[in-house]
Amino acid sequence: MFGLIGHLTSLDHAQLVARDLGYEEYADQGLEFWCMAPPQIVDDITVTSATGQKIQGKYVESCFLPEMLATKRFKAATRKIINAMVHAQKHGIDITALGGFSSIIFENFNLSEIRQIRNIQLEVERFTTGNTHTAYIICRQVEEASHKFGIDLSQATVAICGATGDIGSAVCRWLDARTDVKDLILVARNQERLRDLQAQLGRGKIASIEAALPEADIVIWVASMAKGMEIDPNSLKRPCILIDGGYPKNMSTTIQLPDIHIINGGIVEHCLDIDWKIMKIVNMSTPARQLFACFAESMLLEFEGWHTNFSWGRNQISIAKMEQIGQASVKHGFKPLIA
Ligand code: NDP
Repeated sequence: MFGLIGHLTSLDHAQLVARDLGYEEYADQGLEFWCMAPPQIVDDITVTSATGQKIQGKYVESCFLPEMLATKRFKAATRKIINAMVHAQKHGIDITALGGFSSIIFENFNLSEIRQIRNIQLEVERFTTGNTHTAYIICRQVEEASHKFGIDLSQATVAICGATGDIGSAVCRWLDARTDVKDLILVARNQERLRDLQAQLGRGKIASIEAALPEADIVIWVASMAKGMEIDPNSLKRPCILIDGGYPKNMSTTIQLPDIHIINGGIVEHCLDIDWKIMKIVNMSTPARQLFACFAESMLLEFEGWHTNFSWGRNQISIAKMEQIGQASVKHGFKPLIA
């Protein structure tokens, strides 16, 4: 059985969803309440592969909210993730994806050092960040969207906001090795890590996001921002493609201009309807078929019987593993969303 550990994007969102799912007692509560709330299994899922194989899974709501980080409630944030993992393990789930901020919190707060939780020995090999599949899908989105919107990669500058992150660094390695992209712009805050990445790649210009936007034909957003940032559409190159893979979204500005193409980054569409209700609450346009690529990774590991933490640690995603999960993705009927 596979599992998905998820969270909502804000307190407002959480209150809305709680009401929708019939958890009235959660719906009027503030952040303090969510800090105390235990994890819940809120969905049972059946997925049918393009091959006809059927698998079962469960969605675990961790009750983590990004406001917990913004208000420095770090203990609550880490407790949410560990408790959700214990909950998944206690329910006998073989492989569980740590969605959105779950894996970021796990890494940034060194939660791998916590192995014993009450009477449970946490088995980390039952969990995957899902970042290998996410990075693969974002790269495929770059390749397919550039083709669709007439941007020639061999003449294009691609900016990666969050370039030094787990997903961002994998995307940089793929674009460098597997495409003929002309230039890369590397964006993040920590300059030392940016210089290390630049040295590993042997290319790439380091810049701030403000300097990168007017130069980029394609912008990939994979920064771990608790809240989206406003951008000035007038600062963008025309035409350009913006692929926002953040969760919550990195860009909070709504742009509706004909030559600025916005893609929902790191999202896949399945060839068959999935029997679940959970994707409705994160506002997917086709909730029966669309999902986060990291969640799809745990489904792929279950389909293939690879009960192992396929994506783990930081900045260790290899191109070979992206290709391996990419082949499984195609085989089981997932494709990158280009919308
Ligand atoms: P990491 O923590 O590994 O990396 C985050 C990156 O963002 C780092 O390069 C960091 O560098 C940079 N960053 C953070 N804040 C800012 C900022 N204000 N301005 C510029 N750069 C910034 O995260 P992941 O790679 O694991 O995840 C990245 C994003 O992808 C997250 O939003 C996550 O929720 C989302 N995600 C989406 C998935 C999907 O299926 N679609 C799956 C998993 C994750 P520095 O700190 O130096 O600035």
